[in-house]
Amino acid sequence: MNGAESFYRSLYYVSRALFLQQSTDGVLKQIVSLLGEHLPFAVSQVYMSQDTTFSDAPILPLVFRNDGNDISTQAFMEGRLVLGGSAEAAGAGDDSAYSAAVPLIGNQGVYGVIEVIAESRPLTRENVEFLSGFGETAGAAFENAKLYEQSNLLVTELRLINEITKRLNQSLQESEVFQYACKELIDVFQADFACILELDRKERTFVVQATNLDSMVRETFPIDYGFAGLLQRTKEPVIVSDYEKSARIESRLMEATGSRSLIASPILVNDEVVGAVLVTHAQPNYFTYDNYKLLGVLAGHIGLAIMKAQLHAELNRMVITDNLTGLYARRYLDEQVHALQTRDLRGSLIVVDIDNFKLVNDTYGHQIGDQILRQVSGIVRSCIRDSDIAARWGGEELAIYLPQLTLEQTKRVAERIRSRVERETDPQVTVSCGIAEWSQNDDKVSVETLFYKADMALYAAKHNGKNQYWVG
Ligand code: GH3
Ligand code: MG
Ligand code: MG
Repeated sequence: MNGAESFYRSLYYVSRALFLQQSTDGVLKQIVSLLGEHLPFAVSQVYMSQDTTFSDAPILPLVFRNDGNDISTQAFMEGRLVLGGSAEAAGAGDDSAYSAAVPLIGNQGVYGVIEVIAESRPLTRENVEFLSGFGETAGAAFENAKLYEQSNLLVTELRLINEITKRLNQSLQESEVFQYACKELIDVFQADFACILELDRKERTFVVQATNLDSMVRETFPIDYGFAGLLQRTKEPVIVSDYEKSARIESRLMEATGSRSLIASPILVNDEVVGAVLVTHAQPNYFTYDNYKLLGVLAGHIGLAIMKAQLHAELNRMVITDNLTGLYARRYLDEQVHALQTRDLRGSLIVVDIDNFKLVNDTYGHQIGDQILRQVSGIVRSCIRDSDIAARWGGEELAIYLPQLTLEQTKRVAERIRSRVERETDPQVTVSCGIAEWSQNDDKVSVETLFYKADMALYAAKHNGKNQYWVG
């Protein structure tokens, strides 16, 4: 094997070893080890202009010293191999160069410099040629690995966004969206703490809707307080690399958790701030710029999911609410009674029907009739507890289900409704009520039977002169 052949052979092995690496860190470590192997008589050092923070390869950041003697700076700036000599060898030609700097160069730019200092003997022409080829190969391999890492990161990120959005969109309850999002944020960023706040515009406060910091659950903060306040004013995400050193924004979350790193983003819906997400870590400089950008994207999806859950809740409310009276719709009452009958031991039902309502309509017109219907509904509502369910049962008939109430208690409620309607309606009307109850011991427990019994009782009340209640 002649000299040229062995030269190319070694370059070939070098390039194979470098291109086998799939990570930038792997390439850098391989560069260092190959230099030691091929130039054992020299001290080699790799300087990188970026990517030094997260690497555990023995590399140094490239520091520019523009004093004219710095061959590394020159090699980096000019993108070519630069030789340096010792005092004795100066001016004695290439063969007596004692140091060389070769750029790590790829198609997209220069990434760093390899500096080689020979101590015992000068670099040979062959050494210099090897270094020149090595710089190109290593630069290309590094660039390759870097692009590969970037595209992997992008794919992972897209997959993640896709996954999270899908899950968020499945959540129909706002509380579920908040809980899931909080858990995911901690997971995705390997963060210590996350906190999702919702803006209450009326109260001008931020309300903590989800967090893994127990002491902050359901806390409220003034609209302009802390990082949420900042996000609310600027509508821009923020990244804090060291809370201890940065200009102070008072933050309960950062103080309470002893966090030093933060990424935070407003939750925007139609360019309006509806909330804020804060993600923290105890270490300074923990989050990357990519993390910060990703959080902004995720916050957008969280916003959409919140909006969807809110619309869903509103739609639900509309479906189960009667428009005219504001009471529940019949279907909702049915469903609830069904559910409660499987859970409770007893319960009762009052059916309320306005007396001679046709006459009221004929006398005052339909509009006044509607008004009276609303008055009666208002009275009913104020006579019952929150756990009772009042619904519009038919045209001018209302029904109230009273979970767990005894017959005596139910009679008192019916009487209170009857007497208040008589006293408080204007134009004055009266109502008749039919009462039915059920208990677990009954043979036939069903919504239908309960309503039938109440209806029968109402019929009896009407027949006995109206403006009274009757028990079925
Ligand atoms: P009774 O004392 O026997 O109940 O006599 P009534 O006139 O109330 O008779 P009934 O219950 O059979 O008639 C119901 C009337 O209520 C018919 C209709 O004109 C009126 N009504 C039903 N729904 C509405 C409504 O939404 N608005 C108004 N203004 N009237 C209604
Ligand atoms: Mg009727
Ligand atoms: Mg009637």
